[in-house]
Amino acid sequence: MNAKNAALLKESLEKQNVTLVAVSKTKPNEMIQELYNEGFRIFGENRAQELVEKYESLPKDIKWHMIGNLQKNKVKYIAPFVTLIHSVSSLSLLQTINKEAFKHDRKIDILLQLKIAEEDTKSGLSKADVRDIIQDLNSGAYSSINIVGFMGMATFTDDMDQVRGEFQQLISSAQSIVNNSNLKIDNPIYSMGMSGDYKVAIEEGSNMVRIGSLLFGSR
Ligand SMILES: *Cc1c(COP(=O)(O)O)cnc(C)c1O
Repeated sequence: MNAKNAALLKESLEKQNVTLVAVSKTKPNEMIQELYNEGFRIFGENRAQELVEKYESLPKDIKWHMIGNLQKNKVKYIAPFVTLIHSVSSLSLLQTINKEAFKHDRKIDILLQLKIAEEDTKSGLSKADVRDIIQDLNSGAYSSINIVGFMGMATFTDDMDQVRGEFQQLISSAQSIVNNSNLKIDNPIYSMGMSGDYKVAIEEGSNMVRIGSLLFGSR
């Protein structure tokens, strides 16, 4: 869609209290700048290297979100500037982010990525992982990260009933985590929904959608 229509989509989502993350992976700086000129400030990328390159060459008031699988040895490159890491899918990754944030004297906001899809290729924390994390949190570990919510990816399928069920599962798992731990999150972020399923995600309680191809065209 063109930049004007993208801005209209962003506004209509904002009216529903849903934050739109414009997923700009593989897309050139010029296309990002075009949306920036229409008021977009939040962009998401799934590769650390690309994120750093774009951060360096685009306006500094952009809030960069890491949304994809993140290797531990790449955390140090994005730690100085990343605004939100959606894809925290292992305890060891969380520990690395905490360490790198401390080195850079900042606190990094993160989402716990929960496994909801059937597909093995979609990663995410299991219930046991989450229990371990909460135990560590209760003992005061991880002073350099803020857990601000949850992220999930539904199975890639046309079966919207299945997708809806997986989103419902994310919300209920997240709520049970919060209810059964000392984890205090005011207004948790629920990052769920992409180009093909964001409407269903919002119906099920998403307040942050990650949209790429609908905004920028297919990759
Ligand atoms: C690429 C990507 C998206 C955006 O997908 P579209 O279908 O292009 O909207 C959202 N979330 C994650 C984690 C991604 O990697």
